[in-house]
Amino acid sequence: MWNIHQAYIDGAFVAVHGDEVVDMIAPTTEQRIGRVTLGNREDAKLAIAAARRTQPMMAATTKAQRIDMLRRLQAAVLARTEELRDVTIEEYGGPWARAQWVSRYASECFANAAQVLEAYPLSHPVGTATVTMQPVGVAALVAPWNSAVGTVCCKLASALSAGCATVVKPSEMSPLQTQVLAQALHEAGLPPGVFNILLGRGADVGDEISTSPDIAKISFTGSTATGKTIVRAAVETMKRVSLSLSGKSASIVLDDADLDAAVSQAIAAAFMNNGQACVAGTRLLVPRSRAGEIVERVKAGVTALRVGDPRDPDTAVGPLASRAQFERVRGFIRRGLDEGATLVAGGESRPQGLERGFFVQPTVFADVRNDMDIARQEIFGPVLSVIAYEDEAQAIAIANDSVYGLQAYVFSSQPERAQRVAAQLEAGTVLINRVQPELLAPFGGVKQSGIGREFGVAGLESFLEAKAVAGA
Ligand code: NAD
Repeated sequence: MWNIHQAYIDGAFVAVHGDEVVDMIAPTTEQRIGRVTLGNREDAKLAIAAARRTQPMMAATTKAQRIDMLRRLQAAVLARTEELRDVTIEEYGGPWARAQWVSRYASECFANAAQVLEAYPLSHPVGTATVTMQPVGVAALVAPWNSAVGTVCCKLASALSAGCATVVKPSEMSPLQTQVLAQALHEAGLPPGVFNILLGRGADVGDEISTSPDIAKISFTGSTATGKTIVRAAVETMKRVSLSLSGKSASIVLDDADLDAAVSQAIAAAFMNNGQACVAGTRLLVPRSRAGEIVERVKAGVTALRVGDPRDPDTAVGPLASRAQFERVRGFIRRGLDEGATLVAGGESRPQGLERGFFVQPTVFADVRNDMDIARQEIFGPVLSVIAYEDEAQAIAIANDSVYGLQAYVFSSQPERAQRVAAQLEAGTVLINRVQPELLAPFGGVKQSGIGREFGVAGLESFLEAKAVAGA
């Protein structure tokens, strides 16, 4: 049984002042696996104050000192890879392979950031001026529960590279991931106050962070709705804000695609992390001329996905993170049927043999129109909508007909054609014939999928501000 009643502030694990105790429920079994006490505004103030005290020291660090910090964090997180994987699986039912990938990626974030910082000029001449890239100040890193470990490490790596002390607020739904990660980061032996970590509700801890005059920057990953709340609250103190938000990504299968490869990758894109991924390709756009055969292949592929215990490396789809998610996703499946889409695989009933746990059948709808709710709203579960298009221009128009624009996928056997389509898609990232991201390239969304970019140089620069000094 887990008992988590501390925050990590100023280099130490300390009892929180908050008194809201929340049960942790394992999504695989629906059993209580622990209790967590959430932090409150007072805890947030202490975390912010610790970061503020540390900021001058962080700002004065040399590039070499920051790289040393990053290397120590990388080693400390790498040493906990398996533990991080296991709590990711236990806490939200992330399937083994995904949890393993995210846990490795968490330590790689620090290595990537060190590589980027090494090559990045923190000072350079422009005309008669010298431009110095200075840390923006204390940065708050606010993360969602899905892949919390990777998200926090990626943000932390960029913030520290820039010389920012940080306040980290993971989701109140991710206490286990947060606890093990905080222990790992602590073991890196960095000066106290460089990172302060606390769990809490958005309405108090989140709001304290968004309104505090001592926070200069918020790097937020989460839903578009919360992103809007943060921006409204943050404008009063003119915080710099980066937002990585919701998505409704399109996977476009062009009529020349190798269907064996395209369909299996499109299924992987849709159902990754049990469909609980911001970049999930949940709208599958297929040429009407080949719709029948593609739908048959999708049906066969999705029906064959193994649903069940996420600890089993052969499981493709585990449970949803919470009862609320479970009910919400099943509601969308009902909505799809009400809207007149054709159920091809899955459905509202539980997967066979899984009477406990927040399991939902991987579900596919065909004959979906892009104006249906299931095609417009981020469902955040294993539900795929297949939409037929007449020609390439219409495929692009449908893909772009969304308030979101995080990621898109293009499948084609003609590289130039795929590039031409990619160039016209309104998305922060387009992956061609692949699902694996490029972790050094900028990542973020257009339209309501976000503001700003993370990863690589763009991630570093999101925590820097340019200062020009001219004249002798
Ligand atoms: P969420 O928006 O409910 O919560 C995200 C974080 O914001 C949590 O830490 C939460 O406590 C905090 N928060 C809530 N209200 C706040 C407030 N008023 N002020 C400050 N902080 C507040 O999102 P979630 O349910 O945890 O995560 C799922 C969502 O995140 C999905 O929409 C998904 O697409 C998105 N997401 C986006 C990316 C990306 O990189 N674009 C990655 C992962 C998840």
